[in-house]
Amino acid sequence: MARRRALVIGGGVAGLAVAISLARRGASVTVAEREVGWSVADWGLCLPGRALRALATLGLVDACLWCGYGATQIAHCDPTGVVQDRVELPRTLGPDRPALVGLGRATLHQILRGEAERCGALLRDGLTATRIAQTPDGVGVHLSDGSTSHVDLVVGADGLSSTVKTLVGIDDQPGYTGQVAWRATVPRPDWATGPHTFAGAPHDAGLVPISPRHAFVYLTERDADPAAVPKDRLADRMRALMTGFAGRAAEARDAIGDSATVTRHPVRAGLVDRPWHRGRVVLVGDAAHALPPGLDVGAALAFEDAIVLADELAQHDLARPDDEESALEAFGARRLDRCRAAVETA
Ligand SMILES: Cc1cc2nc3c(=O)[nH]c(=O)nc-3n(C[C@H](O)[C@H](O)[C@H](O)COP(=O)(O)OP(=O)(O)OC[C@H]3O[C@@H](n4cnc5c(N)ncnc54)[C@H](O)[C@@H]3O)c2cc1C
Repeated sequence: MARRRALVIGGGVAGLAVAISLARRGASVTVAEREVGWSVADWGLCLPGRALRALATLGLVDACLWCGYGATQIAHCDPTGVVQDRVELPRTLGPDRPALVGLGRATLHQILRGEAERCGALLRDGLTATRIAQTPDGVGVHLSDGSTSHVDLVVGADGLSSTVKTLVGIDDQPGYTGQVAWRATVPRPDWATGPHTFAGAPHDAGLVPISPRHAFVYLTERDADPAAVPKDRLADRMRALMTGFAGRAAEARDAIGDSATVTRHPVRAGLVDRPWHRGRVVLVGDAAHALPPGLDVGAALAFEDAIVLADELAQHDLARPDDEESALEAFGARRLDRCRAAVETA
């Protein structure tokens, strides 16, 4: 059987995990990432049990724990910033392993890119798809550098505002939730040996360690105006939103540095609630199912998509070689209900 040729559009969490999973199964994989130099907005991620389990399947959990900060407990603080409750989290990897890991998004991307290259995937930056044409024996993708790529499979892993989704005529778009997610990278306070939540009206906030030296402060602004805030005002605005907090929460607020360390995202969420593939083109990750960041499951779902997609393609290779469409149908059938449940819980 000929080696499967796959083109992955988007080199984020989902795209790189797909590249790793497919390349390990013998496919010839190219990843096209739009951003030149793989630049990535670097905010902190919290990856709890479900994500750790998927990272273990990808063989990357130790690298993430090594570069990030593992924890077993979450501390809930009252509005005065005093710890009221400590909750032991389920240790899905076993009693001797942490229950979650916090780490920087750029660090996670670096780990995934390193592994994708080790597995033989070709990673190309500054590149995107401009047109996709299904052919009887594959897919022709016109790329932004003027070239055309003929492949057996195209994976749309280009995130929330997916171009691939539009190019294949899937018009479901995630909607604005009324929330704005704020993140600031700060020095890790000594007391932050695990995530903290800070109850507060009207906005919830918290802090998650992402390395021995750093943590991120998060804040969810409710009923928020999604209009952009000038970049140089981000830190002042985030601190102002945390005015009412005291104790550890106030300490976290006061640790917020300049605006370059702060990100702000109007939160959009939604599910493509019908098949995620058209012919031999399939969507994965946020392109198919976008969830609010506060749930800490977006990355887990993206990793799981990659694992299940590679698994279905491999199973169909054995039964009916080169039958990409049946494999993509089976992939969607395994993933849609699980992701719908996650979106509905949100
Ligand atoms: C503020 C915030 C905090 C979050 N915190 C958490 C958390 O703590 N835990 C968690 O599990 N999840 C979290 N999430 C969600 C998580 O980041 C996403 O679910 C996850 O990154 C989805 O991966 P993805 O690869 O589908 O999309 P992305 O990570 O967005 O990657 C998409 C990639 O495609 C590239 N791209 C876009 N368009 C094109 C194009 N046309 N051509 C080529 N490339 C393109 C982008 O540059 C990017 O590299 C958070 C999200 C936000 C916004």
